[in-house]
Amino acid sequence: MSVYKEITAKSLLSSSTKPDSWFGTKYNMNLYRGCEHQCIYCDSRSECYKIDDFNNTEVKINAAELLQKELKSKRIKGTIGFGAMSDTYAPVEARYKLTRKCLEIIAALKFPIHILTKSALVVRDLDLIKSISSEFAAISFTLTTADDTLAKIVEPKAALSSARFSAMKKLAKAGIYTGITMMPVLPFLEDNLNNISAIVESAAESGASYIIPAFGMTLRGRQREYYYQKLDESFPGMKMRYVKKFGNSYSCGVDNYRLLRDRFEELCHRYGIVTRIDIYEPVSVFDSEQGKLFD
Ligand code: SF4
Repeated sequence: MSVYKEITAKSLLSSSTKPDSWFGTKYNMNLYRGCEHQCIYCDSRSECYKIDDFNNTEVKINAAELLQKELKSKRIKGTIGFGAMSDTYAPVEARYKLTRKCLEIIAALKFPIHILTKSALVVRDLDLIKSISSEFAAISFTLTTADDTLAKIVEPKAALSSARFSAMKKLAKAGIYTGITMMPVLPFLEDNLNNISAIVESAAESGASYIIPAFGMTLRGRQREYYYQKLDESFPGMKMRYVKKFGNSYSCGVDNYRLLRDRFEELCHRYGIVTRIDIYEPVSVFDSEQGKLFD
């Protein structure tokens, strides 16, 4: 059971000069620190982020007030990303509703969003996401395997893959722009044609507009030790395959990249799924308000 600790944050939004080329985000925020989903490969455990107790969650109790203040001072309207370091719909959200409070502010100020999640709780906020969609909203479900049994091992506290697909279907049916971030694809565990095909087929059946893939994973200090410990618990002998193949490399790609990529692209093409997300081009807040006046 995760422990929640309320903290007062000093600031919330980070920003970049241009939208991120993969996710289209110009601004990013994490309403929580630590993540209850406990994915065994999670990069946010890495030493460089200095989150010493990743298994418990810090709750930025003043997040909504900070967001209101920080957004009002922005001159550029650009996509706000949720959940880069901590899933914004982890179970803690059911209690604190910080994501919902922030979506209310974003809807009122008409900023675009991109949410990444492994939770079905996002469906709760369909009303607000619909309203934000008039500017721009993308909801990406991260799926690394279509197999619920494997998902339970590698993403133990997240929604099962089948529940993520069902949530996506509900959003797509409601007209929301939704798709998949298929990352990571874990070497030796998820890098097979059956898995990639099953993800694309379920995506098509669930109304995904896009799938952004990354065929492999990254590993660095502290994240690597945790991942290997979990591999030892569930897949005896697997750690040695990683050690032999990747040593201390940060980038751990799949062997059969070409084969997987070709099948992935062939299936995406067949189902009319694109492999990049639409990117909202940042505009001046002033121009966007003028545009509305002249409509
Ligand atoms: S949902 Fe994302 S942030 Fe949370 S543990 Fe999994 S990979 Fe990490």
